[in-house]
This record gives sequence, C-alpha cells and structure tokens, in this order.
Amino acid sequence: MMMPGLSCKKTAQLISESFDRELVWYQRIFLKMHLLMCQVCNNSAKQINNLQQIYRHLSHPSEEDESVHLPLSTKQNIFDSLEKSET
Ligand SMILES: [Zn+2]
Repeated sequence: MMMPGLSCKKTAQLISESFDRELVWYQRIFLKMHLLMCQVCNNSAKQINNLQQIYRHLSHPSEEDESVHLPLSTKQNIFDSLEKSET
C-alpha cells in the first residue's frame, strides 16, 4: 500500500539500516510516521525488533557466524513479504 512520505519498501530499508547505524533524525520521523499509519510495516518492525534482541543475545565473539546467518535469512524473508505486499 502506498503512503505519503515513505513507501513500505523504503521503510523496510530504513529498518534494515538502523541495524547497522544510527538513522538521521528525519529518517526516524518518517519511519515512525509510516509505522503509525501502516499496520503491515508495524508488524514487521515488531518482528525485526525481536530479531534485534536475538541479535544482541547471540553476539558473543565465539558465536559470530551463527549470529549473522540466522537473523539475516529471517530478515530477508520479512523484507520479501513486504515487497510482495506493496503491489
Ligand atoms: Zn508500510
């Protein structure tokens, strides 16, 4: 579904980017606005937030490989379903 401001696809990208670095203030505002309006992305963000907690939990130096592989593939599934829902 199309929303003013961010598309669902862009929202997914921003959520993904927020894993790697701090978002700029206006990106966070657009992201928050979209999440308030869009139930689809809202649900995905909740799932991703859970993943982020799992991420932190797993991020022991000795388990580096697992902490990358498992959440990333799950993340990809969420983004794939987001892209499909946009059409
Ligand atoms: Zn959306």
